[in-house]
Amino acid sequence: MIYADNAATTKLDDDALNAMLPFLRDQYGNASQPYSFSRSVKKALKEARETIASCISANPEQILFTSCGTESDNWAIKGLALSHSISWKVAVSEIEHHAILNPCKQLEEIGYKVDYIPVDKNGLIDLQCTENIKSDLVSVMFANNEIGTIQPIKDLCRVAHENGALFHTDAVQAIGHLKIDVQDLDVDFLSASAHKFNGPKGIGFLYAKNPNLLSPFICGGAQEYGLRAGTENIASIVGMSVALKKNCEEIEKNKCHLQDLEHTLLHELYNAGLNFVRNGAENHIPGNISLSFKDFEGEALLHRLDLMGISVSTGSACDSKNIQVSHVLKAIGLPENYAKGTIRITFGKNNTVDEAMAIADALIKIIGE
Ligand code: PLP
Repeated sequence: MIYADNAATTKLDDDALNAMLPFLRDQYGNASQPYSFSRSVKKALKEARETIASCISANPEQILFTSCGTESDNWAIKGLALSHSISWKVAVSEIEHHAILNPCKQLEEIGYKVDYIPVDKNGLIDLQCTENIKSDLVSVMFANNEIGTIQPIKDLCRVAHENGALFHTDAVQAIGHLKIDVQDLDVDFLSASAHKFNGPKGIGFLYAKNPNLLSPFICGGAQEYGLRAGTENIASIVGMSVALKKNCEEIEKNKCHLQDLEHTLLHELYNAGLNFVRNGAENHIPGNISLSFKDFEGEALLHRLDLMGISVSTGSACDSKNIQVSHVLKAIGLPENYAKGTIRITFGKNNTVDEAMAIADALIKIIGE
């Protein structure tokens, strides 16, 4: 089996798993309780928060634990808007994940105004475009999950601030894979999810420069400074901190390895003379390869690869009558005869050069038939 869908999720790191086990077995105390049995749990929670904060140059009080990237995104979009009047305006890029777009739709349904910022053929936002946008919150993803394009977040954030807006970035695909320094970027909010950087599923966090700007998202107990109630998921929080620290320490090493895998795969495909385009900007998430094969069906390619033991993803989905091209491929203006034949191969640190070769061989065989 070759797993090449690391943008969908990643394998749990062994060190993260081992760090989690004591909290799943013996140290099951509730971090909110004052007795000594809970002391080690409370300490683990504090240390995990400190570790995560130091990975992105934040302060521990600025890290708010959530259940996933989707929750962090919802909190940033809806938590802020709903604590303001209906005149609060949001601007997001056209290629955001549905964890951003769908909360925006909900806001529109109840009367809020949302602007959608277009992208160019590589998925990049034009800075000038954002200069004319008058909104209260701008949200642009750090890196796109489908095509890997990395946005100029620092510049976008500066322009948003010059226009008096707050800035949020969905860094779910970027964190642990790219160096992120929230102080240097000056972002106000940032979303993250552990299972995209070899941490466990069902845990994430929202960085908030000033947490007081957020309205409570889940109401109940006093956890997360009263902003997000619910007994803390200590094992997962600890696993997330170990996985993030490890990935952040290995960013350069992993980047070189992933670039090797990309070159191997693409070199084989170009040599075979296949008719395809690679989507996304030159500056993209290492290992994220979106390919569109002319006059093919992405879903058919996915199933053929699956039969050969290879897991990848597609940029289009078949319903009963049509092939639906993703909103991202539409936004970059990819011609339909290419867009329908899109697959996304996303390598992770555990993939090997032999696996990259095997995927290329499989594609050459399928396309050649
Ligand atoms: N944002 C982006 C860019 C993503 O790629 C994903 C997941 O694919 C999410 C948000 C949602 O994250 P989660 O699966 O942790 O809810």
